[in-house]
Parts: sequence; structure tokens; C-alpha cells
Amino acid sequence: MKVSIDDLRGQPQQRLVLSFKESLAGLETVKPVVGDLTLTAGSWGVHISGRVQTLLKLTCDRCLRPYFQSLPVEIDERLVYQSKDAAVPKERELSRNDFVEPIPDNGILDISDIVYQAVTLATPTYCLCGAECPGPPAGEEGSAASLGRGKAERTGGDPRWKNLKTLFPNEESGEKS
Ligand SMILES: [Zn+2]
Repeated sequence: MKVSIDDLRGQPQQRLVLSFKESLAGLETVKPVVGDLTLTAGSWGVHISGRVQTLLKLTCDRCLRPYFQSLPVEIDERLVYQSKDAAVPKERELSRNDFVEPIPDNGILDISDIVYQAVTLATPTYCLCGAECPGPPAGEEGSAASLGRGKAERTGGDPRWKNLKTLFPNEESGEKS
């Protein structure tokens, strides 16, 4: 979805409410991103605000299973008119502030790209499927080799002796000295 800044400025109060609904490629979304966005033009640029929602298909970092998570995303983006005089140093300054971007020279606002970036930012970096996560996959622990190893450890040493050592660590060193 793209909006020309001239169209926006032609609106009453230079304000436009958009119903956004798009499937954005390259995201973990399994449903289109939907929501209402309000575009307001000012002398300094354009303010885009609103709320969109989508459904993500993520992979749990613990049990490695895929799961679904609904993701509400707040959009609060400011696009400012860029002065052509200071293009290069300004770009560097702008990158420090995630919420301010320059308006392209052609005056076309790429709403899809703005939503895409907001959804990317809101996507969790650590994924956990939920409170009922079964934990790491059983495949590794349940294999024949590791089961045998576990048995050997259990029969090899009496865990009660280990407990005694941790309970009375000073007694043993006291006997030695
Ligand atoms: Zn999980």
C-alpha cells in the first residue's frame, strides 16, 4: 500500500484513515496484517499512527516446535521532509532514531514498508510456545545411547554420599588438617 503525500495534503484536515490489510512477504506471518492507520500531514512531515494485528508462526526456542502467536503492533512513525543539502550526514543521524524516517523525494509513502518494519521490530527474538512448553525435544534424551548412559550414572555412584559431602564440606577438610 502506497500513499502519495499530495493526496494526503488534499484531504480535509490533511488527515487520512486507512484500513490496512496486506499479506507481507518475508515475515513470519500466516495471516494478513490488518488494522487502521491514521496519516496526518504537518509542515514538518507525516505522522502515521494506529494499530495493526497479525498472526505469527514461530518456532519455540526450547521445544523446537512451531506454534502460533497473535501479534498486536502499535504504529507510531514520523516521516520528515528531508533537506537535500545535508543528505549524507543526516541519514547517519536519522539511523539513530528508529521512529524518524525521511520522506522519499517522489512524495510516495510506502505504508507497507512502514508496517513491515514495525512488525519486524515487534516480532519476539526469543520464542517460547507458552507456559505448557514441554521443554527440549525428547528425541535426544530418549535415544538408546543416552538412556544407557543415564543408567550407568545412576548405578555408578550412590547419590546419598554426594549429598553427605555437600552437607558437611567442612568436616572432611577438618579431618585432614
Ligand atoms: Zn516450547
